[in-house]
Amino acid sequence: MKITAIETSVIALPFTMGGPHNRFAGQLWDHLEILLVKVETEDGLVGWGEAFGHAAIASTKAAIDSIIAPLMLGRDATDINGVTRAILHSTHLLGRNGSFVYGFSGVEIALWDLAGKRANQPVWQLLGGPARTELNAYASLLCYTDPALVAQNVSTAARQGYQFIKLHEVTREATLAAIAAPGAEHARIMLDVNCAWLPVKAREMAQSLAGDHLLWLEEPVWPPEDIHSLASVRACGVPIAAGENVAGLFGFKALIDAGAIDVAQPSVTKIGGIGEMVKVIHYCQANGIEVYPHCPYFGPGLLASYHVASALIENPLIEILWIEMQANPFDPWVRSQNGKVQLPQGPGLGVDPDPEILKKYRKGDVTRTC
Ligand SMILES: [Mg+2]
Repeated sequence: MKITAIETSVIALPFTMGGPHNRFAGQLWDHLEILLVKVETEDGLVGWGEAFGHAAIASTKAAIDSIIAPLMLGRDATDINGVTRAILHSTHLLGRNGSFVYGFSGVEIALWDLAGKRANQPVWQLLGGPARTELNAYASLLCYTDPALVAQNVSTAARQGYQFIKLHEVTREATLAAIAAPGAEHARIMLDVNCAWLPVKAREMAQSLAGDHLLWLEEPVWPPEDIHSLASVRACGVPIAAGENVAGLFGFKALIDAGAIDVAQPSVTKIGGIGEMVKVIHYCQANGIEVYPHCPYFGPGLLASYHVASALIENPLIEILWIEMQANPFDPWVRSQNGKVQLPQGPGLGVDPDPEILKKYRKGDVTRTC
């Protein structure tokens, strides 16, 4: 079943976050941007994917439009493993972690959406998963810096029913404010510092946090590929989570072989798509490592994370960015309620975007390769 067209477009959704908007990579981050990928086949079927964007959205979109989409045209959409092998080999000189793999991830997710639609089965069923309708979610708070604001938002998230709450802070003061927040006594707290510290500082911080009962400390070490220093931080007694910034299965193999992680966090829009996620999850499970996907996304990337996690993880826990979007073309599936998300039951990813919302929030032109 030949691929006949690939479209990329950007959807920009205004949001509030319970405090002032952050800056990221020099830009004010006040819109959630989804890099949507649409793949069409010769029988008229359409699949939707999402490639990692954030501040890199322009480069990922260019990678798809200029290189990946032309390479994909005419290939068999049902041969996902063969297409993955061919495209990632063709582009490997351009980087094994970055825009080209992010871009391919979005296309690959769309191929699974197509495969499910063609088989009239949800992706979780194609992957051999159990029938369930909802999954536990954790609230992934953005960065507030101010401990009082952190505590206030942790209390609000706990009142909303979240039993797992992750902070994006870098101080113990903010962490202790979260732990002491009214309502947090019923929740487990995680701390994600986004590679903030060099190894010596990371070990000092881990030692100071060791008695605070964090469910995990995420990415404490700069740079993220310094896996042996990460292992030395883990030895300080706090469970370590990482993986959103490593390249594919072999990135996780290196983390696990170094004894660096307790929790693996593969990211479906970055790592190469659903197929690579499946390999990572199996490898982690064979090594006794928990997997909780990295998925602060708002479109098909988030939905794909639901499907894979539900199919392959016994007790899935889905990352939901704790923000309030004005609207989303994949509503209501991309929102949580009472600390849970609903697993779509329709074929493929189970949700096609609302065309009116797409039109209203589209940023820039749609690029079509055919
Ligand atoms: Mg993280």
